[in-house]
Amino acid sequence: MTMTVRVEEKLYQNRYVVDAGRGHIKVAAHDKPSANLLAMINLCPAGCYALNENGKVEVATDGCFECGTCRVLCEPSGDLEWNYPRGGYGVLFKFG
Ligand code: SF4
Repeated sequence: MTMTVRVEEKLYQNRYVVDAGRGHIKVAAHDKPSANLLAMINLCPAGCYALNENGKVEVATDGCFECGTCRVLCEPSGDLEWNYPRGGYGVLFKFG
């Protein structure tokens, strides 16, 4: 018998250590978000990006998997600054 496990259930096993006040990704100041920043709202697998009430894109790095998708898409254009979290913080992957 094959048992299927939903990806959401697997991801739920991960843990995240928040580095309060020191998010490792910063969105550059903007009046109107670029197409790439807007795309991150749907592309980020952890749902870290959102549009705020002023029509600007914000990032909340809690839960970030450090997959690098936003870094590849948005850092070269200067839309954001991306660093790894400090040691001891960030995602803790659980395998198995
Ligand atoms: S690195 Fe990946 S998980 Fe983290 S904010 Fe960027 S797209 Fe989302």
